[in-house]
Amino acid sequence: MEQKGILMVLSGFSGAGKGTLVKGLLQKYDNYALSISMTTRAPREGERHGVEYFFTDKENFEETIRQNGLVEYASYCGNYYGTPRAYVEEQMAAGKNVILEIEIQGALKIKEKFPDSLLIFVTPPSAEELKRRLEKRGTESPEVIAQRLNRAVEESEGIEAYDYIVVNDDLDTCIEEIHRLVDAARRAPVRREAFINKIREELQGFVKGAK
Ligand code: 5GP
Repeated sequence: MEQKGILMVLSGFSGAGKGTLVKGLLQKYDNYALSISMTTRAPREGERHGVEYFFTDKENFEETIRQNGLVEYASYCGNYYGTPRAYVEEQMAAGKNVILEIEIQGALKIKEKFPDSLLIFVTPPSAEELKRRLEKRGTESPEVIAQRLNRAVEESEGIEAYDYIVVNDDLDTCIEEIHRLVDAARRAPVRREAFINKIREELQGFVKGAK
């Protein structure tokens, strides 16, 4: 029987390079699926509905919450962000490792609801490098950059809640590190319950048969 995929959370300061890492994982390996979030934030230049996010308004977002259509949601810098439920459930059942690229409040909710999810925190090598990347991106105003750096200070307080921390210095190395962590996590007995039960039953069958 095919093993169910794992639910993995990738968080990190805004500007840590999560988006590029996720693209790399999806290109290199075929057993990952990326969950596309719903948000009330306005699209950035070049962002498309249904690709980077499902863009929506506050009213529709709150309606989706009421209908239990989200696995988790959070408010971040004045906007709602949430993970649609159906896609996550389908892809996991199909054996894919589902990536949630979400912030820390959402990550903590996921761990609470799905104790065998894997939480990975991505960080640049230094705060200096983080600031440089945010400025280089050029998509945000100085005020928004300042807001995101403030938020990074808050988020840095929560890193211990994650299972692993990965430093994104060299992109390819970082992609490999994440893949190895996921691969190892899939081998943990808590995530192989079906296989363990099957082999136990088979063994018991042998023993009974021999009596
Ligand atoms: P951005 O506006 O830069 O695209 O995203 C802001 C933050 O929201 C990032 O830390 C991103 O990981 C997080 N985020 C994106 N989608 C979701 C989601 O569905 N749920 C939660 N909790 N956070 C999200």
